[in-house]
Amino acid sequence: MTDKALVVFDGVVKRFGSFVAVEKMNFEIRKGEFLAIMGSSGCGKTTTLRMLAGLDAPTEGEIRLGGKRINDLPTWQRDTPMVWQSLALFPFLTVRENVEFSLRMRGVEKAERRKRVDKWLERMQITEFADRNVAHLSGGQRQRVALARSLVTEPDILLLDEPLSALDAHLKVRMQTVLSNLQRELGITFVYVTHSQSEAFSMADRVVIMSRGRIEQIGNPQEIYRAPRTKFVAEFLGSSNIFAGKVSNVNGKALKIATPVGEFDVAPNPAKALSKGDKATFVVSGDRIQLSNQPPADGYDGLQAQVVGEEFVGATAVIHLEGADRIEIKAQKSHDELEHINLEPGAKLWVSWRPEATHILPGE
Ligand code: ATP
Repeated sequence: MTDKALVVFDGVVKRFGSFVAVEKMNFEIRKGEFLAIMGSSGCGKTTTLRMLAGLDAPTEGEIRLGGKRINDLPTWQRDTPMVWQSLALFPFLTVRENVEFSLRMRGVEKAERRKRVDKWLERMQITEFADRNVAHLSGGQRQRVALARSLVTEPDILLLDEPLSALDAHLKVRMQTVLSNLQRELGITFVYVTHSQSEAFSMADRVVIMSRGRIEQIGNPQEIYRAPRTKFVAEFLGSSNIFAGKVSNVNGKALKIATPVGEFDVAPNPAKALSKGDKATFVVSGDRIQLSNQPPADGYDGLQAQVVGEEFVGATAVIHLEGADRIEIKAQKSHDELEHINLEPGAKLWVSWRPEATHILPGE
């Protein structure tokens, strides 16, 4: 355990009957970080969070909070409040009563309760609704009440399970800013479960990517985006082009990989020594792909492919193409870069990249 670790998952397994929901999980959550746990539906994100909150007990292994084993510590004895997608506010209580609830449960005396609740109503800009029933608030306002209710005890850690998924797109973006600022200003550790890459990557200091109960990769957003560890991660991010083949030549640090669509130079992989004949998969992220009507210039590798379609993603466009062997290629480009390129479906283009833009998947 490092000095910075607030929470340690040490060989944690969670089974429901014979079904393994979380498999031998080892990782640390650092003090004061914003950690996002991301993965597709059913991969074990919520189960991980519930074990931390004390709503589920690990079947094996140990969870430590501040160095102490908490496996069997009941929820109400650990300070790990949770904000849910459904928010789980008490529908018949006012905003103030909702926010005050956990202070009452802890026997905090009235004057102190009032002071702390006022502070959090103010902090979350909901003072004007203090006496309103929570049923009569908008989605965004309810969100702020749920946050105030969880933060009023001033915990070291806040657990959030898809808290924004019920909000419309506009409000979602606004609440992302509210959450990021709040976390930074308070210095509290946030553990945030989401299936949304944009939420995870825009707010978190580090992201855990899970698949089928296991951690596939943990790292900061840039690391994960630039250097996915496994094919699952590369596919999950959706922005990578994946080429699988065999090492055809090793010359010092330089490698060549033969794939069904050509032989390509790839950047060396410091994490793993590869020999001739070894299987290898490399990726090139969509923003590092060049598209052209001409064959690639010297120093670039490439292949020919046909345009399948175009998709607009804000200031950029994603061009989908198909090459030999039905390989799918995605290129993410600004509209300016595409100005003189024929993007009609069926148009033949050259797809190219610099060998330095390739990344070998070390976990494959
Ligand atoms: P989602 O994004 O859909 O919420 P998730 O990643 O949060 O998914 P979990 O809720 O952690 O996934 O569930 C992981 C797996 O464990 C799922 O296959 C789920 O069906 C199963 N599971 C969760 N809770 C129970 C339970 N109480 N009994 C049996 N199986 C369960």
